[in-house]
Amino acid sequence: MVRLIMLSPPGGGKGTHGRWLTQQTGAAHISSGDLLRAEIGRGSELGRQVAAYTARGDLVPDELILSILMPVVVAAARETGGYVLDGFPRTLPQAKRAAELGLELGLTSDAAIYLTAPEDELVARLLDRAQRDGRADDTLGVIRHRLAVFSRETAPLVAYYRDRGILLELSTDRPEEDVRADLRDWLEARGLVVPADRLSGHRSFMPTSTGVAMKIEE
Ligand code: ADP
Repeated sequence: MVRLIMLSPPGGGKGTHGRWLTQQTGAAHISSGDLLRAEIGRGSELGRQVAAYTARGDLVPDELILSILMPVVVAAARETGGYVLDGFPRTLPQAKRAAELGLELGLTSDAAIYLTAPEDELVARLLDRAQRDGRADDTLGVIRHRLAVFSRETAPLVAYYRDRGILLELSTDRPEEDVRADLRDWLEARGLVVPADRLSGHRSFMPTSTGVAMKIEE
């Protein structure tokens, strides 16, 4: 079963492609932003603390995100055998803590997928999403701040995962189908999913010795 980290600046496509990878592999999709928004929606004291950071576009403190997220990741990984992490880790301390826990629990990540696009394209996508979803932090000023926070806090993770030999960097400034094809090829080449032509006819994913085959829809 695959265990993947999605890494991208806001608007880079980690949610879109993370959800697709989840459908393809059966691994649990875990979005840190969705979990935080759910906590805010519950109106809890914790949610109020979280909202103070997210509304400004600042990251919530590492200890807070780790306490909210780690139990969910561990439970989901145990249940499905895998995960697609969307929005976590986002700082070097988070990445190091996640790696330590992964080692302890036998849940280390197979790959970190870094999705990029030019900044004006990222801003355009987020403003477009604002019209549809009305997310409180999708305003121009907060978007610009989130992009700056990404460069400062999260971008160093690219080198961290590259050094560990698990980084895949892809541009999402092109048709979604092309990005998916590259993702599929790379995961197949690493034995994390089974090549599509070996599975034609099967509609659901299949366990393999090294991973889980992608569900074939084409
Ligand atoms: P985006 O990538 O578009 O900024 P997310 O939904 O992933 O959207 O995150 C929304 C907000 O939630 C972030 O701006 C940040 O405040 C908070 N957040 C999400 N994930 C983390 C994390 N791993 N660490 C700290 N804060 C986080």
